[in-house]
Amino acid sequence: MKSADIRRKFIEFFVEKGHKVEPSASLVPVEDPSLLWINSGVATLKKYFDGRLTPENPRIVNSQKAIRTNDIENVGYTARHHTFFEMLGNFSVGDYFKEESIVWAWEFLTSPKWMGLDPERLSVTIHPEDDEAYQVWSEKIGIPVERIVKLEENFWDIGEGPSGPNSEIFYDRGESFGDQSDPECFPGGENERYLEIWNLVFSQFNHNADGSYTPLPKKNIDTGMGLERMASILQDVPTNYDTDLFQPTIQEICKKAGVEYNKDPETDTALKVIADHVRTIVFAVGDGVLPSNEGRGYVLRRLLRRAVRYGRKLGIERPFLYELTGIVATIMKDYYPEPVEKQEFIERVIQGEEERFLETLADGLRILEDLVHHAQNEGRKSITGKEAFKLYDTYGFPVDLTEDFAREHGMSVDHEHFQQEMEAQRERARMARHETESMKIQGGALADLNVSTQFVGYSELATETKVA
Ligand code: ATP
Ligand code: MG
Ligand code: MG
Ligand code: MG
Repeated sequence: MKSADIRRKFIEFFVEKGHKVEPSASLVPVEDPSLLWINSGVATLKKYFDGRLTPENPRIVNSQKAIRTNDIENVGYTARHHTFFEMLGNFSVGDYFKEESIVWAWEFLTSPKWMGLDPERLSVTIHPEDDEAYQVWSEKIGIPVERIVKLEENFWDIGEGPSGPNSEIFYDRGESFGDQSDPECFPGGENERYLEIWNLVFSQFNHNADGSYTPLPKKNIDTGMGLERMASILQDVPTNYDTDLFQPTIQEICKKAGVEYNKDPETDTALKVIADHVRTIVFAVGDGVLPSNEGRGYVLRRLLRRAVRYGRKLGIERPFLYELTGIVATIMKDYYPEPVEKQEFIERVIQGEEERFLETLADGLRILEDLVHHAQNEGRKSITGKEAFKLYDTYGFPVDLTEDFAREHGMSVDHEHFQQEMEAQRERARMARHETESMKIQGGALADLNVSTQFVGYSELATETKVA
């Protein structure tokens, strides 16, 4: 089944159940200072759940673009994580609750008319105190109790906004993906065997700004299913990157680099990271975010630089990401017209930023040459941590390139002191930001900031060059 068909069927199924289709909203949150990026389907619907607005229809279905920078370290390593992905969701604003949401999720997943998954391969997790969910899963649906796992962490809470117990559905991909002898090999554990596909959130509380919880006047349902993961199951491939959502991009990168996919794990990781990041970049720029030194623009800049560096690992040393815009746009145009409509603009932004980064790298190399000479004159065999950090911090010159270069000149880099400098910088960043609870989900490598980017219009491109 093609990914576009999964998306279409999901929407069709819930329309049949009386839901109204809500179009995918921009990745840039509207009137929500607590979020840097839209990171889930419900993030754009908060206004209905907290009672600020009444929806036309209390049953809503959507396919929402989402960005999660906190998953960046997983990209290219796990089969299932992206920085940009699509979340399919059905929502009830004070209308139906637990029972219907579970019954419909099961019907959609197992009915041959819809996804047709083998029920024997499905298991679920619930919150230990959620007797109601337990009863529906075991009695109404008839899942054997050993496939209903109780987990304390099944309480959905992203800070301010709706919260409550949740229940997640996992697909067993079989023994070749993990063995029972591994203590993490269970639904909800860190493993590649039990693939989390759908999260059903039963929101019954509001998490208030002061940290307290109050029962919501009406109970809500909020669910999220990863389109890429469903596609990997239905296309019977080992990772999301082997689906029709990524393969055309990966094949094109292979052509540019003169490499083959599925031959060498390190090459594959680079291909996956590039294919992932370029999608995020294309959609972020399509939604009006421009590379800059703060907020979303900074995340965008870091993602692009990361993708360029993975390109260099594959031997691509010229601007190339921008040339992938058209492929990404074509893969996604079924549901998201923006990248096609703005293709030329997106290409221009990406190309400009790639060129600037390559210049930065060239500048950094010149400075590095001086540093090496200086060190050699002093009879040193290594670049100090401070020097490597300055290159990184002031010129945006990645430390692994510094290390490569040093090695080529028979030298090393004082890694320990470099790390100390990095930690000191992180500490400064931590002090500088007043992190809201919701920002934590955006944490990790890319989000040491919470300043918003100004959108300056499609004609103006960002001009800054030197950042870390
Ligand atoms: P995981 O445990 O696999 O990291 P999660 O529990 O963080 O996923 P949720 O916040 O429950 O994910 O999001 C709902 C659904 O969205 C998940 O069940 C999954 O199908 C999908 N999803 C979440 N994060 C990602 C991601 N980074 N890339 C692709 N799909 C994702
Ligand atoms: Mg996660
Ligand atoms: Mg999870
Ligand atoms: Mg989850």
